[in-house]
Amino acid sequence: MELELDLSDFYCLNENCPDYGIKGKGNIRVKEIYGPKNRALLRCNTCTHCFSETRGTIFFGLKTSDDEILRTLALVPEKGSIRGTARATGHDKDTICRWLDIAGTHCQEITDYFFQELELSQVQIDEIWSYIKKRTKT
Ligand SMILES: [Zn+2]
Repeated sequence: MELELDLSDFYCLNENCPDYGIKGKGNIRVKEIYGPKNRALLRCNTCTHCFSETRGTIFFGLKTSDDEILRTLALVPEKGSIRGTARATGHDKDTICRWLDIAGTHCQEITDYFFQELELSQVQIDEIWSYIKKRTKT
């Protein structure tokens, strides 16, 4: 199977790895293909850490990790507002707005992440999406 993946766009997500966060070093390899969408499981040859192609790439190019961003977005319904979330997390309100905008363009990946990594319920995920959709309408 041909993969439309440019491995030089990925970097190791293991913070203890010497190649953590460094792109284009050739340490990232495809380990296997899984799931109905043919996702690639990637492996860092430096530290043997494995991660999905969907990890670390949703908010591609931002300084904050996907994990931190998505955990922050997951708080928005609980805090009741973007302003409240900004206060609770220390992230700038405008930054969170920008993340919501980006989230709106990665629906499936983000829903998967909320389900699998943060183990949110469908109701919680729907609430987060209602915030994202509110923004994309305006
Ligand atoms: Zn590594």
